[in-house]
Amino acid sequence: MHQVSRTVDSITLSWSQPDQPNGVILDYELQYYEKDQSEYNSTTVRSQTNTAVIRGLKSGSIYVFQVRARTVAGFGRYSGKLYFQTMTEEEYNTSIQEKLPLIIGSAAAGLVFLIALVVIIIVCNRRGFDRGDSEYTDKLQHYTSGHMSPGMKIYIDPFTYEDPNEAVREFAKEIDISCVKIEQVIGAGEFGEVCSGNLKLPGKREMFVAIKTLKSGYTEKQRRDFLSEASIMGQFDHPNVIHLEGVVTKSSPVMIITEFMENGSLDTFLRQNDGQFTVIQLVGMLRGIASGMKYLADMNYVHRDLAARNILVNSNLVCKVSDFGLSRFLEDDTSDPTYTSALGGKIPIRWTAPEAIQYRKFTSASDVWSYGIVMWEVMSYGERPYWDMTNQDVRI
Ligand code: AMP
Repeated sequence: MHQVSRTVDSITLSWSQPDQPNGVILDYELQYYEKDQSEYNSTTVRSQTNTAVIRGLKSGSIYVFQVRARTVAGFGRYSGKLYFQTMTEEEYNTSIQEKLPLIIGSAAAGLVFLIALVVIIIVCNRRGFDRGDSEYTDKLQHYTSGHMSPGMKIYIDPFTYEDPNEAVREFAKEIDISCVKIEQVIGAGEFGEVCSGNLKLPGKREMFVAIKTLKSGYTEKQRRDFLSEASIMGQFDHPNVIHLEGVVTKSSPVMIITEFMENGSLDTFLRQNDGQFTVIQLVGMLRGIASGMKYLADMNYVHRDLAARNILVNSNLVCKVSDFGLSRFLEDDTSDPTYTSALGGKIPIRWTAPEAIQYRKFTSASDVWSYGIVMWEVMSYGERPYWDMTNQDVRI
C-alpha cells in the first residue's frame, strides 16, 4: 500500500492486487484507526478498486491502515499494518507557500498565453478565416487545456463513494435539458436507447452529440449503474477516449451526453467497409486505440472489455475507447452471448487473457492481450476472433 496524496483531513491510498486471488476480487476492505487509539475503534471502508480516499481524518494525526481483498470465497488475510499521517495545518500552509511561486508563474504564463490566443483569434477573424480555421482554434484550446489543467493522475472508482451521486456531481457536468435536442435513435444501449442530437451550451457553438438514455421504470440501482459510466468517463481527457459532455439527471429521462462519433462502432464499420482501407489507415486506427489505452493504463484504469465493438470511430477515422459501463459483467444479465457466465461475473472469453479467465486477474496486462485481439479484428476487417470455434475450444 502506498500514499498517493494527503491533505489536512484526508489520505489517498493505493495498493497492488494480490498475486494469486482465489476468484474475482469483488472489492477491498480497508481498515484504519488512529495510532494512539485502540484497534477496536477502527473504521472500515469498502472499495471496488485498488484506490481509496479516506476523508474526515484529524489533522497531523498518524493512522494505521490495513487492507484485505474479498472474493466469492470470502475475505483474504489483512495486509501488514502501515502508518500514514495527515498534514498539519502548518505543513499545509507551507506547502501552499511553496507552491505560490509555481501558481503565480503558471498564472502569468497562462495570462501571456491567453493574450497571445486573443491576438491570434482577432487576427484570424480580421482575415475572414472560414470554419476550417476556427476548428483549428478549438483544437488548440482543447490541446492546451489538456496540458494546463492540474489533472488527476489516478482514476477513482465511483463506487468508492458512499453516495455514488456524489461521484456523478464531481466528475460529470449537469446539463439543462433545454440545451439538448434529440434527433433520432441510432442504437440500443444496455439501459435504453442511444440517440443522436444537438447540444447548445450557453456561449458555446452547437455540436453534434450522442445521447444515451435510461428507460423509464428503472430501479435506483439501475440509475446508479447507468450514471456510473458517466462518472468514469468524466475523469478522462484524451483524444482517443470518448469525451463526456455531461449528464441530465434533474429531468426525465436521465441522459448521458457524449461527443458524436459519426461512424459508430469499429466492428460494424470495418465489416461494412471490407477491404476499403490502406494498411497505413488500419494501423493508424490501432495507433489511436493504443494511445487511448496507454492513457487509461497510466491512470490505473483497467478496461476489462477492450474489443472492436467498444471502440467508436468518428468522421476522420479517429478511434476512441468507449464503453465504461460495468453492468454487462453482472451475472443477472443473460441477454448477450458475448459475455459468458463464469464464477464471479461474466467474461467476454474471446477477448480475455488466460489469467483473467482462469484467476480473474484483470490488469493493464490483460487489457494488452485484448488489444492484441483488437489488432486481429482490425486487420481482418471485423472478423470474429477464432471464427466459429466454441468458447470452450477457445479456452483450451
Ligand atoms: P453502447 O451502449 O455504448 O454500447 O452504445 C450502443 C450503440 O450506440 C453503439 O454500438 C453505437 O452504435 C452507438 N453509440 C454509442 N455511443 C455513440 C457515440 N458517441 N457516437 C455514435 N454512436 C454511438
